[in-house]
Amino acid sequence: MATRKAMVAGNWKMNGSLELVEQLSDAINNVKSSEVNIVLFPPFPLISAMIASGVTTGTQTVSENTPGAFTGEVDAQLVKQLGAKYVLVGHSERRSIYKESNDTVAAKFARAQQVGLTPILCVGESEIEQENGQTEQVVAAQIDAVINKLGVAALKESVIAYEPVWAIGTGKTASPEQAQSVHKFIRDKIASLDSDLAQGLTILYGGSVNEKNSELLFAQTDIDGGLIGGASLKAESFTAICNSA
Ligand code: PGA
Repeated sequence: MATRKAMVAGNWKMNGSLELVEQLSDAINNVKSSEVNIVLFPPFPLISAMIASGVTTGTQTVSENTPGAFTGEVDAQLVKQLGAKYVLVGHSERRSIYKESNDTVAAKFARAQQVGLTPILCVGESEIEQENGQTEQVVAAQIDAVINKLGVAALKESVIAYEPVWAIGTGKTASPEQAQSVHKFIRDKIASLDSDLAQGLTILYGGSVNEKNSELLFAQTDIDGGLIGGASLKAESFTAICNSA
């Protein structure tokens, strides 16, 4: 079995403050072990403070465009220059609230890699899609949008986060078996194109992960860590989750 380093990522969404950067970075710098790659995704105005705190930092989105007349958008190159390392692309809130299509997500993925940021491609089905048995079909289409645009090799310098939409912020988490089966589907799908790449690929689970359920989820063969929303805003919960990875 390939050895993949565990990763725990915290998505603050539109939450947080300078005080919280200080609290979380103190907590993380205390528990920081070389066993787990910890990354926080604060809102844009807190990026510099987070980077200065020594915590590996990413942004929650970036523009797919190169610099120009795009009022309110944020250039990936600038984020990279500040010292960020990662960027979330295709989070379900970006897809549903801001209507980002699979093509837009693939374009953001490409732009992130172009400037040397590592994209974390978020995928996942809605509740209705799950009920209709369309989980694999939806997730496959979200991944194929990137593969069709950039080729499977582009996934080498990336991370995938499987986040069932019905589990995000709802307190309803996928069971470890349920999550493992989708993670395995993702890894097998990519392995059919490049098996070494698939074995080395970090695949995170997200959706109502907390300090009580993280250990069992992270123990699954194809789950390499988590993308944490609500629980990443509390130092105690987040560090407990990091320690369970
Ligand atoms: P949650 O969010 O942990 O609050 O469910 C996860 C996410 O949106 O990445």
